[in-house]
Amino acid sequence: MQTIGLTASTLLAVIPNNTEFSGTASILSCSWIKLSIKQKYVVNRQKGIELIVPLYTVLKLLRRGRMAVATGKIDVPGIQGVILDIEGTICPISFVKDVLFPYALESLPGVLETSWDSPSLAPFRDAFPAEHRGSPSALLSHVQDLMAKDVKIAYLKSLQGHLWLTGYQSGALRCPLFPDVAPAIRQWHAQGKKILIYSSGSVAAQKLLLQYTTETENGGDLREFIEGWYDTVNAGMKNEESSYQKILEEERKKGVEINADAWVFFSDNFKEVEAADKAGMKTVLTVRPGNAEVPGDELEKYRVAERFDNVNFV
Ligand SMILES: [Mg+2]
Repeated sequence: MQTIGLTASTLLAVIPNNTEFSGTASILSCSWIKLSIKQKYVVNRQKGIELIVPLYTVLKLLRRGRMAVATGKIDVPGIQGVILDIEGTICPISFVKDVLFPYALESLPGVLETSWDSPSLAPFRDAFPAEHRGSPSALLSHVQDLMAKDVKIAYLKSLQGHLWLTGYQSGALRCPLFPDVAPAIRQWHAQGKKILIYSSGSVAAQKLLLQYTTETENGGDLREFIEGWYDTVNAGMKNEESSYQKILEEERKKGVEINADAWVFFSDNFKEVEAADKAGMKTVLTVRPGNAEVPGDELEKYRVAERFDNVNFV
């Protein structure tokens, strides 16, 4: 009898495939129930650690829980190109929600006060409807109102982009990449893989994120490793198959002759993964701290990784 005192992913890394063992699995991320199951398990490199028990109901419970999420090393064969999502894949979702958006709101009063008449602010200020830009306080309260209602409108996005650029340049903002991301990007680039970004944030915002990261090497700037930048404007919606075909088409126009199945798309969103899969790409569903829980039956459909260094291109 052996007690699981490690995470399932660590166990997978050290125990040979198909090994059976006994232990107690705690279902940690199950939102409606928390329990521990003392049972026999088997190590499965593709699916994680599986419970060996003929009880269908218990198995369903486990699939909804943490153990079904955990995976060890996974092999992805025949890869020449890598496409990366940003939020929830290379950095925490909370960076955008809890850092970038509040930063825009907090820095705005100071920027309006000091730069109201400056040429640097003028194009962003003048893009707002005239009735909302009569004074700094009128613009401030309009922006606060739009952001509270989560209105996605071009002139608001442009102003936010301007505020973020100022924040990045001043050092107040840095994108906190997950620690395995930059080493993996460098390694894949050194192996000759093409690396692209595909995110719903604008290409301009993507470039800022990858330019100003918490990495220490080269000032944290990873842009030199990225050979293509795609967003909803130049590729399309991320949960549509046609967007992934469009990316391949654009890459072919640049002379990149890589077949769909030699690309691998990493994302935390199973609908995006499904769309890339339909377009013929290989996929890795990325499970990171702070992400929304992925339904167990979706986890079963795809390769799942908690870290980039768990993924071997073979
Ligand atoms: Mg994402």
